[in-house]
Amino acid sequence: MIDALLEPSDLPHRLPRFADISIEDYGPAIEQGMAEQLAALTAITASAEEPTFENTLVVLERSGERLDRVLRIFFSLLSADSDDDLDELHAAYAPRLAAHHDALLLDDALFARVNAVYEKRAELQGEDRYLVERYHRDFVLAGAALGPAEKARLRELNQEISGLEAAFGQAAQADSNDLAVVVDTVEELAGLTPGEISAAAAAAEGRELAGKFLITLTLFTAHPYLSVLENRELRQRLFEAQLARGSRGNANDTRGIALDALRLRAEKAQLLGFDSYAGLVTADNTAGTPKAVRDMLERLAAPAARNARAEQSALEASAGGPIEAWDWPYYAEKVRVSEYDVDLAVLRPWFEADRVLRDGVFFAAGRLYGLTFDERPDLQGYHPEVRVFEVSRDGEPIGLFLLDLYTRDSKKGGAWMNSYVTANTLLGEPSAVVTNNLNVPKPAPGEPTLLTFDQVNTLFHEFGHALHGLLARATYPRFAATSVYRDFVEYPSQVNEMWMLWPEVLANYAVHHETGEPIPADVLGKLEASATFNEGFATSEYLAAALIDLAWHELGPADVPTSPEAVEEFEAAALSAVGLDNPAVRPRYYTAYFKHIFGGYASAYYSYIWSEVLDADTVAWFKENGGLTRENGEAYVRYVIGIGGTRDPLESYAEWRGRPAPIAPLLERRGLV
Ligand SMILES: [Zn+2]
Repeated sequence: MIDALLEPSDLPHRLPRFADISIEDYGPAIEQGMAEQLAALTAITASAEEPTFENTLVVLERSGERLDRVLRIFFSLLSADSDDDLDELHAAYAPRLAAHHDALLLDDALFARVNAVYEKRAELQGEDRYLVERYHRDFVLAGAALGPAEKARLRELNQEISGLEAAFGQAAQADSNDLAVVVDTVEELAGLTPGEISAAAAAAEGRELAGKFLITLTLFTAHPYLSVLENRELRQRLFEAQLARGSRGNANDTRGIALDALRLRAEKAQLLGFDSYAGLVTADNTAGTPKAVRDMLERLAAPAARNARAEQSALEASAGGPIEAWDWPYYAEKVRVSEYDVDLAVLRPWFEADRVLRDGVFFAAGRLYGLTFDERPDLQGYHPEVRVFEVSRDGEPIGLFLLDLYTRDSKKGGAWMNSYVTANTLLGEPSAVVTNNLNVPKPAPGEPTLLTFDQVNTLFHEFGHALHGLLARATYPRFAATSVYRDFVEYPSQVNEMWMLWPEVLANYAVHHETGEPIPADVLGKLEASATFNEGFATSEYLAAALIDLAWHELGPADVPTSPEAVEEFEAAALSAVGLDNPAVRPRYYTAYFKHIFGGYASAYYSYIWSEVLDADTVAWFKENGGLTRENGEAYVRYVIGIGGTRDPLESYAEWRGRPAPIAPLLERRGLV
């Protein structure tokens, strides 16, 4: 039934009627949603009435309601519960949706009306005025103010760039698959668990290499096995396989594709009046300019490199000689255990998933924001494994939280949050429906789900996004829930991580699942003592990738090299210019397999550390003001997570704190002072 996609649901909080949706419904629903939006926009532009906020901006905001409802469901399920058919449908509709979006933002008559309202924006207040300003910027940055020939070129560029991005992703993936490391004997795998060894044997069998072992490459540069494999040659082989991705001169070489995309992006930015693509991207973020980003990254680079060198000496003392990049994670783990006596792996019995959720994540949200959570087994998610909780604030229901914890074949990797319904008054949506997805391996039947340290952290992080989605209140859908700038959106989720180890929260949830014993009292102290351990390395490898991203996107079209061989040279120059050229500390991603920047994060990889400035300052504020209190939570809702995208977020922040966020708390947290 396409109505289950287009119409508001009659279930509590408008939880989508997942059971009534079948795959054949998406195509017609998307078609209808696009057609209805175009018709609504045509009605605006055909109107003889003088443009006003009401007859232009408000109508524009309403026009996407039904299409938006379909797409929220479609894109959420594409990540959380997909199959080949849904993936194919996405491949078929992605270019259509991009063209629909272009048609909207490049419509001359519509832009003329928005511009007319924008010219008179002094008459508007608050969220209304901000809405006009933001739409105006959307149109201008999409090219609406250009002449016809330039617009035509821009459309061409957009198509070519998205084609190159898709080609980059496919080639990088294919080369990663090809580069899986074949291991002949089980002895070489010393350090892996029996489960990991049998997975490697099964992977080898899957490629007709029965009797051998296969280590497949993950998305991340630092393969998790590098920290445990005892065989140095195998570590080197694994590391070099990762490094080779996309740059072997074969059919899956991504470097030429990357350079073409960079050149076209630079041309696009120039067409829109910017010196570089980084200028275009930062103009629509809180950073504002590439210079602000570069200043911040460079401010961190020297102390990070210095700390990494000190860490290297300690690791070399442990190794009894010089170490290479492929040895770093292995000796870092050894030193972590011997120096700090912290072995994160032994903590799992204290991290039973349901207990972490109810007595940790929900408990902290209760203390801070007055939230309570009632499981609603009568409400169905999109998959039997999804749990649905009704969320109330001071007893008043405000929405639903869906938790989808486990890994499945139908789920993409990683962890994320989505909104199905966002609270906004224009469309009469009083509450929100949000979901968190994780990838926790499902335990054997009857066994408890024991989380790793990192998984607990991820649960708190993703729940920070969920809180943002649940507590934000906006008039307009454009600003609802987590609709904030990309270099701001990670900040609330980063802040929520602080409660994981907050003594009162930890004591409440970290209880041994068999003995009921609390977590050993000295664990917290040890974790605190080791908090900046290896941070020189972690900060350096992140900054190196962020600076490679930035350096490429600072170039004008004529400055982008044409030969694939020039890529390594450019990277080396960009890194040595800022002192991040230690061969033992490689960038987290090199260009040839930097999927973030040939997908949605072009020139925006800096965002994580940019938002961490606000995060670190906020964590310091909570600590100085008594931590886990309702009063603190209320202030944070009022100035940060409760406002969604309704006003300039840094202005609101400065109003709260009486000043912008300084960088010092971040430097201190990462041991960079
Ligand atoms: Zn996040």
